[in-house]
Amino acid sequence: MRAVRADPEVQRARMVELIAARGVTDRAVLAAMRDVAREQFVPENLREAAYRDAALPIDEGQTISQPYVVALMTQALELRPQDRVLEIGTGSGYAAAVLGRVAAEVYTVERHSRLAAVARERLTSLDNVMVRHGDGRYGWPSHAPYDAIVVAAAATEVPERLRRQLAVGGRLVIPVGAPHAIHELVRVRRTGPDDFEQESLEQVRFVPLLPGRSGDPGRRP
Ligand code: SAH
Repeated sequence: MRAVRADPEVQRARMVELIAARGVTDRAVLAAMRDVAREQFVPENLREAAYRDAALPIDEGQTISQPYVVALMTQALELRPQDRVLEIGTGSGYAAAVLGRVAAEVYTVERHSRLAAVARERLTSLDNVMVRHGDGRYGWPSHAPYDAIVVAAAATEVPERLRRQLAVGGRLVIPVGAPHAIHELVRVRRTGPDDFEQESLEQVRFVPLLPGRSGDPGRRP
């Protein structure tokens, strides 16, 4: 017997109910998660799995983050509608699309040229989301300071350059730990020009934040 698959909107509503049940309460974040069609950000052969609360593989050995983790990290950024956000690790572009519905401006950096190009294409309809191919460990200084910075890949420590691109009062959310281990989701708050407070939020697992950029724009590997 073949199960009849619910349409994406119904599946999304269910996904959001589960995320809310796990403790995400920010209404703007939940509304954004209800809006973004995740199936458009996963590889075609995995569309059926788009609304499972799981990370899924995308190209270049990378992943699209688990919906709960995207919601958790977005909530942890404490975004206000007027905020400017920097994301490191565009990947599929899914989290950037969510961020773009909660904040005013989103700048997102991806080290794989092909992933950056595909995400840019997917996000063309969102004119407040800008994608750049580059090494996100350097941030995107020309648009700094940011009210919030989110890193979607695990670093061994909080990159100093990213902390310095926060506005005073700004929040940086980043998984920290050894590669291929369990990571601590950390929130850093810039409380003054030279003052930072750090707290640990939850345990998560991420692909590593890697040095350099991969694949030059316009050049085939
Ligand atoms: N936010 C993404 C999740 C992407 S997974 C989504 O919603 O789909 C993490 C991404 O970080 C990968 O695409 C990886 O290529 C990228 N990445 C790793 N190191 C990086 C770096 N130094 N600069 C920019 N992106 C990086």
